[in-house]
Amino acid sequence: MPVGQQNPVHSWLQLLKWPGSPLSAKINVMRTQERPSGQPDKIRCCIAVYGCAKNQVDAEEMASRLTAAGYELTGDAGEADVVIVHTCGFIEDAKKESIEGIFQAVEAVKDRPDAIDVRDAEGVANAGDVSTAGTMRETSVPVIVTGCLSQRYPDELLKEIPEIAGVAGTAAPRDIVEIVGDVLRRDRAGRVRRVGTPGRGAPGSEGESIRFDTHLKRPWAYLRVAEGCRHHCTYCAIPSIRGGLTSRPEDEIIAEARHLSSLGIVELNLIAQDLSDYGYDRDGKRRLARLVRRLSGVPGVRWIRLLYVRPDGVDDELAESMALPNVAPYIDLPVEHGSPRILRLMGRPGTEQILRAVERLRKRVPDLYLRTTVITGFPGETEQDVLATADLLCEIGAHRVGVFPFSREEGTAAYNLPGVVPGHVARDRAEYLRRLGLSLSAESAAAMVGKEIGVLLERPSLRPGYWIGRGPHQAPEVDGVTYVKITGQGSEGRPADASLSSPASGAHLTSDTAHAGDRFIRACVTSPGILTLFAHETLV
Ligand code: SF4
Repeated sequence: MPVGQQNPVHSWLQLLKWPGSPLSAKINVMRTQERPSGQPDKIRCCIAVYGCAKNQVDAEEMASRLTAAGYELTGDAGEADVVIVHTCGFIEDAKKESIEGIFQAVEAVKDRPDAIDVRDAEGVANAGDVSTAGTMRETSVPVIVTGCLSQRYPDELLKEIPEIAGVAGTAAPRDIVEIVGDVLRRDRAGRVRRVGTPGRGAPGSEGESIRFDTHLKRPWAYLRVAEGCRHHCTYCAIPSIRGGLTSRPEDEIIAEARHLSSLGIVELNLIAQDLSDYGYDRDGKRRLARLVRRLSGVPGVRWIRLLYVRPDGVDDELAESMALPNVAPYIDLPVEHGSPRILRLMGRPGTEQILRAVERLRKRVPDLYLRTTVITGFPGETEQDVLATADLLCEIGAHRVGVFPFSREEGTAAYNLPGVVPGHVARDRAEYLRRLGLSLSAESAAAMVGKEIGVLLERPSLRPGYWIGRGPHQAPEVDGVTYVKITGQGSEGRPADASLSSPASGAHLTSDTAHAGDRFIRACVTSPGILTLFAHETLV
């Protein structure tokens, strides 16, 4: 931490004015009743996850490793014996959200009368098997903070939040069973600190990646293909948190895709810090296009979706691979800004590279859906620069736009750049571009009316006659949903019509269709919502 710089964890605490902030009211609802008697005892872990899709995959991996080691999982911190808070440490707002999450966990486990004290070394050695760990005793429950915030501020977190039993960095998903063991074995005053070099270590160092199916109760999954990043965008702290680019072996990824497909997962969302850089660390060549071609050959995979592709990583080969039939005509291509001067200061690909990338993609995938993100308030930014960003968003035909005010991150090159833009100005500019983004989304949704699209049905909705799903233009968790009206009996005769109603409408599919396991249907779009679509099923 640079000299004289205030400990960021301390400043967030001041902000939260803990305890007694309005948050506390909300937290109390997490308490639960006593552990039902007669229930077989296993050490129960609760994993709260914050941040991006990569953190979600981390949490799924931790859940799988703990389950394999004999622990039990609970979604309720109020009844857990160990709570793991997997944090984000990327930008200010995300960091604050993680800190709030830590306090929610601490509050939820405080003074738990029913908590098990398993710090009987022998008991823990049997990992998760309480019955050999001695009797239940009054004690509190350990909270372990893992992930990016711990990787960045381990000592600040331990200093400022005495309730934390341990911190572990970005390698925590790989080592979680050991970490929980260490925490449970620690003596009363002891605290665990497991923070190594950023990232998860060399490829293959984590052994086979395990993904248990118990946690994937949906027809899609994130598939992480690499960790870390070799670029050094001047505002970004990720390389210092997650380390340099580490691509997973291609065969390991294909094996995982086969495994996921065997579980009924039909949509694979490929993730990395910069997906287009996949493989570069292994043989100096970008191998994403080859990987996509191989994945498109995995039986049962109906949609492959590319998230987080840097514009300068889009070449003809990649664009060609995106024209494959089971590659969703969708890409998340962060452009970050529209002003050539600001893009240079950011260390990002310039507007020519951005336009060339989009042109290449659209040439091979004419109906491509483009999600992007931009930053406002970067040091030195002028109103003119913001207008340049607005122009670029229109020029590339963006359909979805995420907007983030600049977050001044210590340890990044942009931290000390002159021309700091006041926070409220950055937020106003962000609001301006968000509105533009919404109008671009509304335009693209309106252009879909009358079109027939594929829809991945996810779940029945509350309103009879409707299911909730996603179209090719909707990535999970960020792009809204499509409401599909389904009527008629059985898969063969399912004429349908659509009644456009408020975003709150829902659906249910005829039973045998669901059991037919084919969650993919064709539907005709009847009307747009901003982040939703309404459609009726069409006979295939
Ligand atoms: S490409 Fe740039 S913004 Fe993205 S993770 Fe790497 S350094 Fe950060």
